[in-house]
Amino acid sequence: MTTVEQAKNIRISEIFGPTIQGEGALIGQPTIFVRTGGCDYRCHWCDTLHAVDSDYRREWTPMRAKDILTEIEGLSGGVPLMVSLSGGNPAIQPLGALIKSGRKKGYRFALETQGSIAQAWFSELDILTLSPKPPSSGMDVDFDMLDACVAAAGPHVQVSLKFVIADEADYAFARSVSSRYSDLPVYLQPCNSAPPPQHVEQAGLRADMLRLIEMTLEDRWFNVHILPQLHVWLWGNTQGV
Ligand code: SF4
Repeated sequence: MTTVEQAKNIRISEIFGPTIQGEGALIGQPTIFVRTGGCDYRCHWCDTLHAVDSDYRREWTPMRAKDILTEIEGLSGGVPLMVSLSGGNPAIQPLGALIKSGRKKGYRFALETQGSIAQAWFSELDILTLSPKPPSSGMDVDFDMLDACVAAAGPHVQVSLKFVIADEADYAFARSVSSRYSDLPVYLQPCNSAPPPQHVEQAGLRADMLRLIEMTLEDRWFNVHILPQLHVWLWGNTQGV
């Protein structure tokens, strides 16, 4: 009989690194990315369509947790570091066994999700980034489910909120959701509205960043972090860096 650990039941879009985390609470930190395939959302400005759209499904590889860990160990030369579980929506994949066995070897695990699905194994993570999608995404947020994600992480996981801001409605959304979770650190980043493979207009992103800083300071919203996407600034819309 096939056990959960033996089954090739995790859909992988790409595994790459070490590189640096370009966003949110771990910005600048060395990490390996494990990007899963599939997402229950279809945001207008999604920048990882190759891990979302079913047109790319044939490029996703079903893998066992232990084979993913072997690949992580190979990429890191066996030296433990932070592993970033991303997507798509990694919360729709059975990642508990991978996290458990990786942590036994000293790896740490960070997961980013929009918060549409809560999993019991969130409590095994080191870092959980919840990125509820703002109005410009075209998606609706299920706040009961977002609450369930925070509850599933429990008291030992470092949870934060991350918002992509494209316009004033997004800013108001971020402000309001942040006040609902007043204990959680908040990260804001301007929307990269030219998703891959389009060329990134760095000047436009810089102007958006300055506008966001201005808006936040004028609003006296001081307990917030305002960050660019560091990887986009360094490498543009390049996949796998
Ligand atoms: Fe893309 Fe994330 Fe939206 Fe899914 S939730 S469609 S991965 S931006």
